[in-house]
Amino acid sequence: MIDKSRFLQEIAAQAAEYGVEIHVREEFIDMKIADRDVVAKTSREEYEAGVVIGADGYNSRECSKNNSI
Ligand SMILES: Cc1cc2nc3c(=O)[nH]c(=O)nc-3n(C[C@H](O)[C@H](O)[C@H](O)COP(=O)(O)OP(=O)(O)OC[C@H]3O[C@@H](n4cnc5c(N)ncnc54)[C@H](O)[C@@H]3O)c2cc1C
Repeated sequence: MIDKSRFLQEIAAQAAEYGVEIHVREEFIDMKIADRDVVAKTSREEYEAGVVIGADGYNSRECSKNNSI
């Protein structure tokens, strides 16, 4: 059996080692395409990114709302 909490902490630590910036307690609100980037709006800020990966779970509202997979 996998301890999901520990598993997530471990992959987050590995991602951080590769320079990933991690934000917690920040709700994704919406995103839009701007030029060649995506602008993702959260409860705190707006971020520009080349790629956005929706990982909001089995009952994802965000991916279906944005016609993503
Ligand atoms: C009823 C049910 C039973 C299941 N039983 C099993 C099982 O026995 N074994 C198994 O292996 N899998 C099971 N699964 C599947 C399991 O839940 C998923 O495989 C796994 O949890 C998916 O992980 P995830 O990280 O993709 O999504 P989740 O674990 O769902 O995480 C999604 C995260 O996104 C966050 N989020 C959502 N919306 C936003 C937003 N707008 N902004 C910011 N954050 C947001 C949520 O708070 C959550 O923390 C089950 C699923 C369901 C629905």
